[in-house]
Amino acid sequence: MNADQECIFCRIVAGEVPADKVLDDEAGIAFLDIGPVAEGHTLLIPRKHAETLADMSEEDAAGLLRNLPRLGRAVQSATGCEGVNVLQNNGSIAGQLVPHVHFHIIPRSPGDEFHFNWPAGAYTEGRIDELAAAIREHL
Ligand code: 5GP
Ligand code: ZN
Repeated sequence: MNADQECIFCRIVAGEVPADKVLDDEAGIAFLDIGPVAEGHTLLIPRKHAETLADMSEEDAAGLLRNLPRLGRAVQSATGCEGVNVLQNNGSIAGQLVPHVHFHIIPRSPGDEFHFNWPAGAYTEGRIDELAAAIREHL
């Protein structure tokens, strides 16, 4: 993808597409999601185009995420919600529609319409240790 021309979030970063920005610094910007799951649903994105989290450098990720606690507190205080979910989708299989990294900050309130299908499973004997070892090898 030509990041500048074709990526809607790069165009928001560049100021070519309007957005209700709430935060703007050298690492990233945050703005209200145009299709909110709940009022105040906010997106935090890096300035530099990266399609998924795996495409970001540690430095860029650290710079972006240092804003997350402060942003989460501000969304919670401004909306009066009881809690927030932070979601970040990578790849269309994971529900990513916009191919520019973004963290969703979603206000949660009693009785809201947002539900997870969280099919918690169980490991067969030894499998959890195998997987932990495999992941450690790849770090
Ligand atoms: P994803 O499914 O990729 O994790 O989420 C993409 C999010 O971006 C959606 O929640 C969608 O409403 C939001 N979005 C897509 N296009 C725009 C836009 O042009 N402006 C804003 N503010 N949000 C957008
Ligand atoms: Zn982009």
